[in-house]
Amino acid sequence: MGPEGNPCAGPVCGFNLRDEEKFRISESSRAPEMIEIQEKTIAAPAPSGYGPGEAPQWEFYSKCIHCGLCLNACPTYRELGLEMDSPRGRIYQMIQVERGRLPLGESFVQHIDSCLDCRACETACPSGVEYGRLVESARAQINRYYVRPGIGRRLRHIFFHHLLPDRQRLDHLGTLLWLFQKSGLETAILKSGILKLLPKRLERVMALSPRMEKPFFTKRLGKVVKPDGEVRYRVAFFAGCIANLAFARLNDATVRVLARNGCEVVIPEAQGCCGALHVHAGIRDKARELAKQNIQTFLDGGFDYFITNAAGCGSVLKEYPLLFEHEDREFYERACAFTAKVRDVTEFLAGIEFNRNFRALRARATYQDPCHLGHAQRIRSAPRQLLAAIPGLELVELKESEVCCGSAGIYNVVQNEMAERLLKAKMQRVDETGAELILTANPGCLLQLRAGVARSKRKRRVLHVVELLDEAYASGTGPADK
Ligand code: SF4
Ligand code: SF4
Repeated sequence: MGPEGNPCAGPVCGFNLRDEEKFRISESSRAPEMIEIQEKTIAAPAPSGYGPGEAPQWEFYSKCIHCGLCLNACPTYRELGLEMDSPRGRIYQMIQVERGRLPLGESFVQHIDSCLDCRACETACPSGVEYGRLVESARAQINRYYVRPGIGRRLRHIFFHHLLPDRQRLDHLGTLLWLFQKSGLETAILKSGILKLLPKRLERVMALSPRMEKPFFTKRLGKVVKPDGEVRYRVAFFAGCIANLAFARLNDATVRVLARNGCEVVIPEAQGCCGALHVHAGIRDKARELAKQNIQTFLDGGFDYFITNAAGCGSVLKEYPLLFEHEDREFYERACAFTAKVRDVTEFLAGIEFNRNFRALRARATYQDPCHLGHAQRIRSAPRQLLAAIPGLELVELKESEVCCGSAGIYNVVQNEMAERLLKAKMQRVDETGAELILTANPGCLLQLRAGVARSKRKRRVLHVVELLDEAYASGTGPADK
């Protein structure tokens, strides 16, 4: 394999075959031999292969025919122009690790870490490569067998094992952050310019920190909200983990909108973090533990549907069976039964005779497709259908709406530089629309887009689709952008 930075030279397969004499491509067309590349004169790196546990499987990566149609859909490839940071290049590296030709080391980890897991490549791929599965299992191997340097490993452990799954700790941290934000201390620090002395990245990451919204939505756990009229559906609302603290208003709006559509909304007390961030980080054992708790809690309630307003959570909730298909066949069946009832709130509403009793909202708006709604769940028309039903709302299509905004879970924190580049490109596209209202359907995207708006000259509101529906249901008149 050539040095990083120039791996894609071939017109067809695209891998780095700059010095073709040093390589031989097997003539066999049968996978896995068809992707066999044997070094003739260069010593292969020390064999490593994957260790026991979940790893990228031939069954999935062999579907890749190296056509390259995914390249221009991939945000990291578009930004860097490097094959190693493209879907095809990453799949190639996964294969090389399996064959023991590339160590499961720093270089591999860097290219796999730089992937947003946005799954735009799945939409583009004519061969049906389930890239998300591949990258998540590659990360499972990294998580098991690669020792991350410095304090990063410890911080990851605390975040994923001791913070996200622990509601009480999250609440305490949320309260501290709320005090920090409300007391004026945050403003004083920002105005003092002290952050200029710190690495630029820290200042940018601080701008991304979510605003805490008191009262936290955790106070609503265990409650039941009844609709005004007849009960058409009995649904359970999935509240999220960080969303309980930072998106309490969004969660409240979601519950109100569901109630206005004839839902009795139960907010199960025993629910917890969905494990989406764990799955994306390859921390699958913990994700399974969290999934089991949620599956038991929601299935036992005898609900018609389980509703979420977070595309990232919804995507993982719908893919819970993947966590159990090989590891726990018995529980796999329960996971499938659970998944069958999961709906994104926009998907649910567009799928029923939704209440169209909206007031007019006069605003020019644009909609950003969250990756885990569009690419992962293939839900694109539902949010647009709902928005089209609001009188007065002018919806302008956003160019490249399906290109990741750079949020991608905690990607904007851990891979801040790339996330910033993507956000900048996204805000340029938003500017082209002339919209004063940016709509999306995922809390992570809301944070990222709000950070983009905060640093732009033009002030705009950034709302979840369901928040706008909530406004349109509210009595009274007036423009949406106040
Ligand atoms: S589009 Fe699909 S088959 Fe083609 S290179 Fe990309 S992942 Fe492979
Ligand atoms: S998931 Fe997104 S960033 Fe990762 S390879 Fe696919 S398109 Fe590129």
